[in-house]
Amino acid sequence: METILQVKQIEKIYGNKGSITRAIEDISFQVAKGEFVGIMGPSGSGKTTLLNCISTIDNVTSGHILIGKEDITKMKSGQLSKFRREQLGFIFQDFNLLDTLTAYENIALPLTIQRVSPKKIESRIKKLATQRLDIAGVLDKYPYQMSGGQQQRVACARAMICRPALILADEPTGALDSKASRMLLNSFEVLNKSLEATILMVTHDAFTASFAHRILFIKDGRIFNELIRGEDDRKSFFNRIIEVVSLLGGDTNNVL
Ligand code: ADP
Repeated sequence: METILQVKQIEKIYGNKGSITRAIEDISFQVAKGEFVGIMGPSGSGKTTLLNCISTIDNVTSGHILIGKEDITKMKSGQLSKFRREQLGFIFQDFNLLDTLTAYENIALPLTIQRVSPKKIESRIKKLATQRLDIAGVLDKYPYQMSGGQQQRVACARAMICRPALILADEPTGALDSKASRMLLNSFEVLNKSLEATILMVTHDAFTASFAHRILFIKDGRIFNELIRGEDDRKSFFNRIIEVVSLLGGDTNNVL
């Protein structure tokens, strides 16, 4: 199976001689095309740092990160922004939609920047909006006119529209109620299955994590445990996640 992401023995140290923080000690893992992988870990364990390094926003102190065949730790900043635009899709906790653009314009933005023709843009947006994300009814609305769940599904469409190699989601359900969270995660499942979208998602929430195929648990900048869903249904996987979370010392409500 094609490997989309290879993280090879990365280390990230912040600070200088006086005060040093080893945010990532030693992390290695791979993600195959079409996988949906969750990352969990207590606060301060290095999740954000890991996501920032993979998303090319921050650089590693040592080690390598390959996305497709490209080693992003060797790229120059000009190359990186092009790579980020074309190969990566981002979904954030607070949606990050532009307030002055409609949902349609927000989704179209990455393609407009790439000078894709308006006709092509329209057909791609219509397809995503109606078939996969259930947002056809809000395409003409501005972010303030939409619910949080709708905004996040629009953000999801924006992340998907360029068909990136990898989608990076940082606490995507963090600002949503349980109904909107479930709808978003169902959309992730659909996009993951039908478009073979590869998703890497950081979350502290066991329910959200239970939609993934595999969970990497991080503690003190290292991978502490790995759970693979296999043939389990979502509920059994959720229970297994809760077990590991308890082992890590969290409470099971608002765990990690
Ligand atoms: P998490 O996302 O799991 O809560 P982080 O990746 O944010 O963890 O942080 C891991 C460690 O690195 C923490 O000890 C944090 O204080 C430290 N850290 C994160 N970013 C910086 C930074 N820019 N400068 C110094 N220390 C940092």
